[in-house]
This record gives sequence, structure tokens and C-alpha cells, in this order.
Amino acid sequence: LVNKKFHPEDSVITIGNAKIGPGHLTMMAGPCAIENHHMVLETAFAVKKAGAQFLRGGAYKPRTSPYAFQGLEEEGLKYMKEAREATGLNIVCEVTSLRALETSIKYVDMIQIGARNMQNFELLKEAGKAGIPVLLKRGLSATIDEWLNAAEYIASEGNPNIVLCERGIRTYETATRNTLDISAVPVIRSKSHLPIIIDPSHATGVRAYIEPISKAAIAVGADGLIVEVHPCPSCALSDGPQSLTFEQYQKLAEELQPYARLA
Ligand code: PEP
Ligand code: MN
Repeated sequence: LVNKKFHPEDSVITIGNAKIGPGHLTMMAGPCAIENHHMVLETAFAVKKAGAQFLRGGAYKPRTSPYAFQGLEEEGLKYMKEAREATGLNIVCEVTSLRALETSIKYVDMIQIGARNMQNFELLKEAGKAGIPVLLKRGLSATIDEWLNAAEYIASEGNPNIVLCERGIRTYETATRNTLDISAVPVIRSKSHLPIIIDPSHATGVRAYIEPISKAAIAVGADGLIVEVHPCPSCALSDGPQSLTFEQYQKLAEELQPYARLA
């Protein structure tokens, strides 16, 4: 179902007032984690002003250490819904379990299945049954075929609203948090009709590399970007070093304007 051979025309996914796919450059932005009510609303207004169509933010955080901040769960989702009502932004939040999925669909416009759950087949099947648009991130060490098979799990349950997200893969290189597989964009384009966006934040782990990587992503044909933005990156409970300030995100959005017509 996700194979281009049987569906040669590229898909454009409609979510609320936004479209994701060729001809559109979709901007998703927001904090790594939803930390409190104020920061969600503040960030929503800032990214909206910069031109984003989606607010991201994790309510269920898949942290490497069990002692690290795990997320506000349903309380955080309520803040995101409030941010949608205040700004008109679409909301995308990660789900890490079947229980999180069940709760999240009451609040969000799109669910994210993160790198660590790309092959959580029960979660993929339930996300397929739920019918809600899914942002499917590439697994830390997944091949493109494994990733497309994960998308197939969702599609085979009757849900065609899938957007792929390349967020870097695990290699021997340590200068960046992950290694962005920029070729994934044209490779996916040749194998599948699904839209693909890039996450320069998790790909690099370094704020200073977000801008050049974002430009490269658009130049290579990505359909959008998901970027971490925080009111105070140095105070962030997660992923501060890769998060942009509001001013930096505004500047990024402006600098990407001339590239947007490549989308
Ligand atoms: C995130 O988007 O905050 C996240 C945890 O991403 P990934 O699954 O790509 O690591
Ligand atoms: Mn993060």
C-alpha cells in the first residue's frame, strides 16, 4: 500500500488547514517535552508567528534513563489542545504505548511514533486502526525497507495518512547525535508515495547545525521540517542543546523562505 509501484502518484496528506506532501513546505516546531502550561502557550504563539503550521511537544517522553523527566502525560495534552484553540496550529504528539495512543487521540491532530517504537508492531497496528494521521519516525538503526514495512503495518489497517520522518540514524560518528541520512529523501521518493519530512534537531543534536541541515533537507526535496524550539533552551528538561530560541526559529523560518519554492 505504501509502495510507489502500485500508487505512482505522490500522496498529499491533509490535516486540518495544512497539507503535507510535494508542493508544500510544512513546518512543525515546539519543545521536545511539554514542561508546563505557560511554556506551551508561549511557544505556540512564537512558532505560529514564524509561520509554522504544527506545534510539536512530547507528553510521553521515551527517555534513555528511567530517572529522567518522563512527561506530563494527559495534563500536557490538555495544554496542547488549549494551544490549538488559541493559535489554530495543528498538534502533533508522540505516543509511546497503546494507553498513550488511546488518550492522545482525544487531544491531538496527528500522533508521532518515535524512533524507539518504529517496530512496535502492536502500536503500529492500533495507530492504523485509530485512523488518525501518523508521523512515523525512522528507527535508530532501521533500514529504509524496515521503515517502509513499519508504514505498511499502519496502512494495512486502513490508515493511509502517514508521513515519514528521517531523524538521523546510529553510525560510528559521534560529532553529531545521529547521522542524518539525507539520501533517505530521494530513496523514499523513488520507493514510496508517502510524504517525508526531516528532523534536523534529533539528527544533529547541535543547535548550530539546524540551519544548514534544514536548507539541505529542503534542497533535497523534503516536504517539511520538525524543529525543537524552547523559550529557554538552557533550562529545558530535555534536548536543550539542540533546541532553538524563539528568535533563532524566527530567523530560521525567514532564511528558509527562498528555499520554500523548491518544495
Ligand atoms: C522527539 O521527537 O522528541 C523524539 C524523542 O524523537 P525520536 O523518536 O526521533 O528520538
Ligand atoms: Mn527531543
